[in-house]
Amino acid sequence: MAIQVVWLKRDLRLRDHAPLAAAARAGRVLVLYVDEPELLHSAEFDSSQLQFQRECLRELDTQLAPLGGCVARRTGNVLAVLDELRERHGVAGLWSHAETGNRITYARDQQVAAWARSHAIPWTELPQTGVIRRLKSRDGWAARWNTLMSQATSELPERIEFASEVPRGRELEFAELGLPPSAKPLAQRGGETLAHAVLESFLEQRGVDYRRAMSSPVSGWDGCSRLSPYLAWGAISLREVHQALQRRRETLREEQRSGRAIDRRWLASLSSFAGRLRWRSHFMQKLEDEPALEFENMNRVYDGMREAEFDQVRFAAWCEGRTGYPMVDACMRCLHASGWINFRMRAMLASFAAYHLWLHWRPTSVFLARHFLDFEPGIHFPQFQMQSGVTGINAVRIYSPAKQVLDQDPEGVFVRRWLPELAEVPLEHLAEPQRMPLSVQRDARCIIGEHYPTPIVEHASAYQSARQRVFARKRAARSESAAVYAKHGSRRRPAARGRRARGTTKGEG
Ligand SMILES: Cc1cc2nc3c(=O)[nH]c(=O)nc-3n(C[C@H](O)[C@H](O)[C@H](O)COP(=O)(O)OP(=O)(O)OC[C@H]3O[C@@H](n4cnc5c(N)ncnc54)[C@H](O)[C@@H]3O)c2cc1C
Repeated sequence: MAIQVVWLKRDLRLRDHAPLAAAARAGRVLVLYVDEPELLHSAEFDSSQLQFQRECLRELDTQLAPLGGCVARRTGNVLAVLDELRERHGVAGLWSHAETGNRITYARDQQVAAWARSHAIPWTELPQTGVIRRLKSRDGWAARWNTLMSQATSELPERIEFASEVPRGRELEFAELGLPPSAKPLAQRGGETLAHAVLESFLEQRGVDYRRAMSSPVSGWDGCSRLSPYLAWGAISLREVHQALQRRRETLREEQRSGRAIDRRWLASLSSFAGRLRWRSHFMQKLEDEPALEFENMNRVYDGMREAEFDQVRFAAWCEGRTGYPMVDACMRCLHASGWINFRMRAMLASFAAYHLWLHWRPTSVFLARHFLDFEPGIHFPQFQMQSGVTGINAVRIYSPAKQVLDQDPEGVFVRRWLPELAEVPLEHLAEPQRMPLSVQRDARCIIGEHYPTPIVEHASAYQSARQRVFARKRAARSESAAVYAKHGSRRRPAARGRRARGTTKGEG
């Protein structure tokens, strides 16, 4: 009897897995995961991401074993894998979650759709990210998102019949795939159980001061939810997170109503967190609606603004964390070791590259994609465009890296940890070590230009120049911006409505 193929992509979990549940009701199931060399060797991919996926897949195998199943493993082109399954075993149906991916997965999915049509195999793609396919208008989007997130989570049937005659296949070693081992010793570990533990610890303990803690790389390490890689690779569903959050808020409100003392920071923090979950889908919707955003400016008036001036030396210094700006360099080195940094610091890294170094967002976004364990194309590319000032609908934010040290790392803990060459630099010089008198440099065993770089650009002049150039375009971009806003702008904040005429909006992080 032909089989129902459940094709796992960015949904490496068992709970709230609608395609698996539906396929199991339709017939005998094969749960399939394909390592795709084209993706694994793409510029956005890193071995740490594969390591995380593998940890999720191994747990899935452990969970499926008592039910009599496993994840069948294949390496190669998905189309070839599916066609071989069709020829050998017969495929009655293909099931997956809808994906808002990059150009590789987008093109692959179009080929799979054509293949399924040509063999009259129904391919059912179910939503999981809050993104709405074939969206006609952004109006009313938030209400539709709420409906999707409030739907009951999917339950697996009590018994699943697995297609046990299909060979299980083997997980290839990194070296067999031509990949180095993961080089991020502090990367989060994958798996559905861990995902739920991380969620629970955030909602019950770590999240209490989220609203304040999220901006600093010091407090953000534990104070942010740290759910991003689990959401990106689907070890937990957005709906599960949303619903657990609503339950926690309700419990807290109930405690408040019954006169019990609760830490007042909780409700504000959880409200901020709820907003971030919605932003997740809001940003992904942009790429879903306009896949070209992976490569092209959201607002084409900005075309040509930076392309011709890409400075490889600056780019290399930014990538390696040796720009001479301690907060930029510390964040970059933290990222190299862990694959994670908080939102504010991601925004600063992107903005510093775009404004101070005047680098086009495309190569810088690809570099960070590779270093983010949670790389999610739908968030990543639109966020990069926003932080680079090429949307025309967002406030232009140019961060001062020195101010970020003073505001977000006032004790110098983070900078000293990631830049050991600055370990003995006195606190008052940590934001701008180049201003240390030579005698202090000697005492601190940190000679600028020798042990730590001289700033690669001068902040004030780089800031002024970038501002002038971006604002000149922004004025010219007004008419185009109105169209961009109509397609991609958030409709949620009343303040944004007031700005609609000018085609600018804040409130997107
Ligand atoms: C230039 C740039 C690139 C980014 N690229 C990615 C990416 O590839 N993958 C990714 O998951 N996030 C990305 N973000 C958004 C954000 O920085 C991360 O989601 C967040 O830092 C992850 O840590 P957390 O899970 O502890 O976040 P929390 O603060 O605990 O937030 C919870 C979840 O909400 C979502 N979220 C939070 N902030 C945002 C935001 N501003 N926009 C959209 N969704 C948000 C994420 O799914 C996150 O896991 C990017 C931000 C910037 C500025």
